[in-house]
Amino acid sequence: MNIPYGRQSISEEDIQAVIDVLRSDWLTQGPAIEEFERKVAEYCGASYAVAVSSATAALHIACAATGLEKGDRLWTSPNTFVASANCGLYCGAEVDFVDIDCDTYNMSPICLEEKLVQAKKTNMLPKVIVPVHFAGQSCDMANIYRLASEYGITVIEDASHAIGGSYQNKRIGSCQYSDMAVFSFHPVKIVTTGEGGMVVTNDEKLYRKLLLLRSHGITRKKEEMTTTDGGSWYYEQIDLGYNYRITDIQAALGTSQMRRIDEFVARRHRLARRYDELLLKLPVITPVQIDESYSALHLYPIRLNLQQIQKTRREVFDALRQAEIGVNVHYIPVHTQPYYRKLGFAWGDFPEAEKYYAGAISLPLYFDLSFESQDYVVSTLEQVLR
Ligand SMILES: *Cc1c(COP(=O)(O)O)cnc(C)c1O
Repeated sequence: MNIPYGRQSISEEDIQAVIDVLRSDWLTQGPAIEEFERKVAEYCGASYAVAVSSATAALHIACAATGLEKGDRLWTSPNTFVASANCGLYCGAEVDFVDIDCDTYNMSPICLEEKLVQAKKTNMLPKVIVPVHFAGQSCDMANIYRLASEYGITVIEDASHAIGGSYQNKRIGSCQYSDMAVFSFHPVKIVTTGEGGMVVTNDEKLYRKLLLLRSHGITRKKEEMTTTDGGSWYYEQIDLGYNYRITDIQAALGTSQMRRIDEFVARRHRLARRYDELLLKLPVITPVQIDESYSALHLYPIRLNLQQIQKTRREVFDALRQAEIGVNVHYIPVHTQPYYRKLGFAWGDFPEAEKYYAGAISLPLYFDLSFESQDYVVSTLEQVLR
């Protein structure tokens, strides 16, 4: 038995959807991509969607679309995957972090406010903030957006964990409290395209810019060109873009997966509630769910109560891995990565993220995880902690 921490669920319909594309005229830049974009935009209640090759690419073009550049600043959470911060560096901006709330492990609006007050005094306000919906649970977007609006900051939600979740009864990706939101379709996430990502927005100008940036800065739209008398072969490069396109093969898989998204998330909730109950008597802290949010539950991160147990996190982690349970740790605080330490960050800079990290272990959670496997995870953990 080898239980991973996360994995995809692929149905016969998913396989057929991919085969259909392989038999069609278009492997890339075809109709399956627009269909996928429409499906996700409709699902989230956003006006526009741009599908790309990964969430990392999506974060990059989202930042670039805001005009983020050298001399600007981007703030994100230290408790995230490195991509949430790297997108700022890709644009030449400086990156900084806002410490997390000790219950939700999401960016703390209190820390954000304190940091904004300080930054205003020294003329160091960020142009962009990237709140990350850690484990699938929405950040306190109402307060984050209020602060961002007050200080004139653009908000890009890193919703890589969060498609299928909602906040204040609106789907994540509705961009009610942001300018753009980004999804990941990596196989461990909620729905997958193999590799893939998407930006959703309600802003038409950002949408047009995102389309350009996805594909070399090239347009075929007459109204965007400098001349109107080009032939039908004629296109213009009017911006510096990339090749961040997704394929129709991937998009078809995504559209097919989207049919089951609510089922995926509901099952994750069932499993998470089961973990909550089974872990009740163990010296661990289970993840808190806040009222305003319906989490997509990408992860189930527990915290070991290190004072109560005789073992280190490493010993517990290794024992679980030894038992073929593919636990993981989310996340090593980004500012402690060697690359970021070279930029001037140090251990101690964001104490809540570091404190959380010290005891964190993500237990397996995915659609096809069986109750039997889950029981095995819990009983093994119980033995290890005893
Ligand atoms: C997975 C992930 C990404 C990157 O997603 P890719 O699609 O693999 O590029 C970015 N941010 C967070 C928070 C993630 O979990």
